Amino acid sequence: MTTENTSTEKVELLIIGAGPAGYTAAIYAARADLKPVMYTGIQPGGQLMITTDVENYPGYPDGIMGPEMMEHFRKQAERFGTDIRFGVATSVDFSRHPHKVIIDEEHTILADAVIISTGASAKWLGIESEQKLNGHGVSACAVCDGFFFRGQDVAIVGAGDTAAEEATYLAKLCKKVYMIVRRGEMRASKAMQHRVLNTPNIEVLWNSETLEVLGDQTVTGAKVKNIETGEVRELAIEGFFVAIGHQPNTDIFKGQLDMDEQGYLITVPGTTKTNISGVFASGDVQDKNYRQAVTAAGSGCMAALDAERFLGAMMHKV
Ligand code: NDP
Repeated sequence: MTTENTSTEKVELLIIGAGPAGYTAAIYAARADLKPVMYTGIQPGGQLMITTDVENYPGYPDGIMGPEMMEHFRKQAERFGTDIRFGVATSVDFSRHPHKVIIDEEHTILADAVIISTGASAKWLGIESEQKLNGHGVSACAVCDGFFFRGQDVAIVGAGDTAAEEATYLAKLCKKVYMIVRRGEMRASKAMQHRVLNTPNIEVLWNSETLEVLGDQTVTGAKVKNIETGEVRELAIEGFFVAIGHQPNTDIFKGQLDMDEQGYLITVPGTTKTNISGVFASGDVQDKNYRQAVTAAGSGCMAALDAERFLGAMMHKV
């Protein structure tokens, strides 16, 4: 039973986060009559809210804008009775059952089961022009947005496996790819580096940093400085990709849930179960590998089914 407007509230299933994973978990859980309560976090819709066209999500043959797609997800979750609320989970206590989650530092939710779908955030360079042109030529996902720049010149920042993989991906679509690397070497695996260095239309700019992304409405170039020589060069490009890593949104779970060295939640392979019984993780918060809307949605479905089984077994024990 839920009680609104009290500082402590008991719910059957709590979903934290409202991206493709959270909404899909909500759709399945609501249809299974688990009466899910969802807290959306600071950016309802998640990373897709800063994406423009989405053309690789099945079911949308003409493509769809990221925010509009998330609106569809939300409506579908609401249609089956998900209680969607704006609020941020600020701390958790998973040491006892029911699990305790504090919302906005004041409201306590006691939940029989919790699905965590708080996602990950792309890391950005932090320069003003990058933020201004985000979604208008600046992107943190080559697989999502590379297609829009086919036949054009683009740049990508980063030197890890993601940047290397995305640079080679972009090289297949684009005329020219500048890879902006801040040191004189790459962090990427040798095999990936080899691939980058042997792709004729990738030019690696070593020891380089981006001073500014140029453009008014859309990207028209980038100003890049060679840190060793001090030389500043203007690249004429239409797309500017940032691939300097992602940060899973897991700060509040530190010390409570098992995570890897980068902070991604660890789940039992083939399931969404965390190390705590009744706590499940889905979407990018537990996936540093695929990171697609469709894979996040798939794991949200898995989390709802895992939670349903857990709650069913719990009822039988009572
Ligand atoms: P990483 O943390 O491995 O690499 C980040 C890269 O971005 C580094 O080269 C770093 O430079 C650079 N960087 C960080 N901040 C800045 C900045 N402000 N300006 C310029 N450059 C910056 O992240 P990835 O996303 O590449 O990879 C994450 C994990 O996922 C890794 O373990 C990786 O191996 C794995 N992965 C594996 C894949 C595969 O096996 N197919 C594919 C993709 C990822 P510097 O080196 O100087 O610190």
